[in-house]
Amino acid sequence: MKERRTVTDYVIPPYSLPIVPVEGSKGVFPVRRIWCVGQNYAAHAREMGGNPERSDPFFFSKPGDAVVPGGGLLSFPVSTSDLHHEVELVAAIGRDGHDIPVEKALAHIYGYAVGLDMTRRDLQAVAKKAGRPWDLAKGFDQSCPISSIVPVSSIGHPERGAITLSVNGEPRQKGDLLDMIWSVAEIISALSRFVSLAAGDLIMTGTPSGVGPVRRGDVLHASCAGVGELNVTYTG
Ligand code: MN
Repeated sequence: MKERRTVTDYVIPPYSLPIVPVEGSKGVFPVRRIWCVGQNYAAHAREMGGNPERSDPFFFSKPGDAVVPGGGLLSFPVSTSDLHHEVELVAAIGRDGHDIPVEKALAHIYGYAVGLDMTRRDLQAVAKKAGRPWDLAKGFDQSCPISSIVPVSSIGHPERGAITLSVNGEPRQKGDLLDMIWSVAEIISALSRFVSLAAGDLIMTGTPSGVGPVRRGDVLHASCAGVGELNVTYTG
């Protein structure tokens, strides 16, 4: 007879779900996967040696447990000597879907946050040159500090507004959500043709120009108008 096994029979302790607080409530958002879109602002595409013309968007990912809700004090990542900041609007998916039409895509969003797609640029450069995957350049521990999530029910869908990042009080990145090559709805629609999106997924929607190095001791301040703010300090 087949032995019946239940979820209490985990052979190791199950990991705890990564969560992000929701602004203005006691609720928390459980994180499933983190999707990222590359080169979604023309000036950033150019600074990375890319072509800002509207070709299909491309995607990469980070593990869900790379989120650091609320930022704060972070250890400087291992295995890099060229850590870069990328400030991004983050869309938090609240409803499952695949092959989502653009005109229905926004209905899949629970809320928004501002986040940092922290990048080990040196590892990425090596991977690009060798035609290898970017995973270890993008998906490392604590590589996604993120603000609280603000629900669509409070702020709607931000379409314009400043998105900025400063390091030690010095402005480094400044863009406007209007300058995104692919809108949030278009990103969701495109991504949902490659994977099934599910409630709990976060989508980082790309960074404006001005990405650059972060050093031990640096204090980062990220902001997205109408969405939120985030502070991160890197210790030694
Ligand atoms: Mn990015």
